[in-house]
Amino acid sequence: MSARIAAPRGTFDILPEQAAQRDLVERTARELLEPAGYARIETPAFEATELFERGVGESTDIVQKEMYSFDDGGGRSLTLRPEGTAPVCRAYVEHGMHKLPAPVRLYYLGPFFRAERPQAGRYREFWQVGAEALGSDDPAVDVELIVLLHELLTRLGVPARLRLASLANAQTRAAYREELAAYLHAHEPELAENVRSRIDLNPLRAFDSDDPGTQQVMAAAPRLIDRLDPDDAEHFVQVRGLLELAGVAHEVDPALVRGLDYYTRTVFEFTSETLGAQSGVGGGGRYDGLVELLGGPRTPGIGWAAGIERIILASDLTPPTALQPDVYIAHEDRRTAAFQLLLDLRAAGLRAEMELAGRSLKGQLKHAERLGARHVAIVEPDGVRLRDRESGAERMLSAEAVLDHVLAP
Ligand code: AMP
Repeated sequence: MSARIAAPRGTFDILPEQAAQRDLVERTARELLEPAGYARIETPAFEATELFERGVGESTDIVQKEMYSFDDGGGRSLTLRPEGTAPVCRAYVEHGMHKLPAPVRLYYLGPFFRAERPQAGRYREFWQVGAEALGSDDPAVDVELIVLLHELLTRLGVPARLRLASLANAQTRAAYREELAAYLHAHEPELAENVRSRIDLNPLRAFDSDDPGTQQVMAAAPRLIDRLDPDDAEHFVQVRGLLELAGVAHEVDPALVRGLDYYTRTVFEFTSETLGAQSGVGGGGRYDGLVELLGGPRTPGIGWAAGIERIILASDLTPPTALQPDVYIAHEDRRTAAFQLLLDLRAAGLRAEMELAGRSLKGQLKHAERLGARHVAIVEPDGVRLRDRESGAERMLSAEAVLDHVLAP
């Protein structure tokens, strides 16, 4: 026997029981997003590496160490998509969607790839459902999206806490980064090594550190939320007011830094206690400069993404049980007639199965029992014996009459 080959570390198979659960998550997302005006978009699984370098940001963890990049054979670097927003914005620009009435509302559902250390809730290939609205900076769009994610999690039975912050605009953030970097330099001896070495590269990430010394320094650090210019501050106040109106509880977390460079103004994250270390179940934010950065016209945008596996881990979803066949077709050496009946019943829209595994007639009846088939049709030389499985009532019919009998109320 040959040696077995296992799926790569950090990946998983979606087995039929799990497919049913995922289907429920996907269906719930569709049923929520489509009536709200979100149309499905799907972008390729790989993109030009430059899209993420430019869009997500050179200094981010994702670009620095989590991308699966490869040469396309012609000297061009491609990358398995680690996130969905930059690709959607790329498609928005490429297809001239800025000419559509704003806001352009889109959603997607598919696999994403990050070279992370696998653990519970953290995989190298994982699925996200995401939604984006492009072309409006109205705070009501921010809140519309947050409310939709909140509703999705609620419908799926995922209790989650909402944290919110504002990351200001690019200029304010650049000035703040310098202020924060200067503060961190002044406290270098108290900081963890990996924070110290990244002060100039990405000082905001110091807020994410779990090192106690660093945390103490960060508790007294200058906060971006206190540096917002009047427009951004007003935007944030309106977002909070509308969230309150929508009845979605939130807390402002000035240390909320999301690991992507493109965010401006509103950022948010839903976390679920039940998930343990990987508590982020979904999050997102505004990215008012991203479309322009990718060569499009100046276009505000905002979106979120939620992890399908984490939703399932945090929820108490019971997948729907497999549907029972309407008819199980049993036979002994009458494959052609049985197969013809199978085709006819299926063509009429019935759930029909036939014996294919060489069981004895007794074994076939047992199998029909196991499947919970409503009827068993036993193909015999002079017709079909149709049995109501539960009552055991039987009648002999012509093959043509079986359909009418099964369909009869
Ligand atoms: P992010 O783009 O990092 O904010 O991710 C959005 C959501 O995707 C997270 O809240 C998680 O639910 C999910 N997610 C991100 N990375 C992973 C991963 N490596 N494995 C599983 N789910 C992930």
